[in-house]
Amino acid sequence: MARPRKGSREISPVASHRSALLARRAEIRGSLAAPPEEEPLIGQPCDEDQAPALHDVFVVEEINSRSRQELLLIQRALERIENKKYGICLDCGEPVPPARLRAIPWTEFCVTCQEEWDRSRSAIDAFPDEAA
Ligand SMILES: [Zn+2]
Repeated sequence: MARPRKGSREISPVASHRSALLARRAEIRGSLAAPPEEEPLIGQPCDEDQAPALHDVFVVEEINSRSRQELLLIQRALERIENKKYGICLDCGEPVPPARLRAIPWTEFCVTCQEEWDRSRSAIDAFPDEAA
């Protein structure tokens, strides 16, 4: 009885992350190429407040810039795969847990470093919460 050979059928985790990255990149590129769905909310003339319309434009811009940001991260992740550095935290150099890579294949940091980042950013964005 011949044992099934290892290797040919086995998909390495990096290869599966790579295909996830490529799929996500195609998805984002598709959404960027498509014109934004604009539904002009005409019905109520709002002469004293133009904020809603401006807000919509802002939201579209926000989504576009986020998509571009994500594209950049995906591109960099693909480059790291090429350089055999994929899955290594850019900050501390420790391996990023596989579960995290599966959830966010383009992540650049391990959980600890990402939390540090988020904390330092939210410290700027929000003012301190005074929980009693
Ligand atoms: Zn780290």
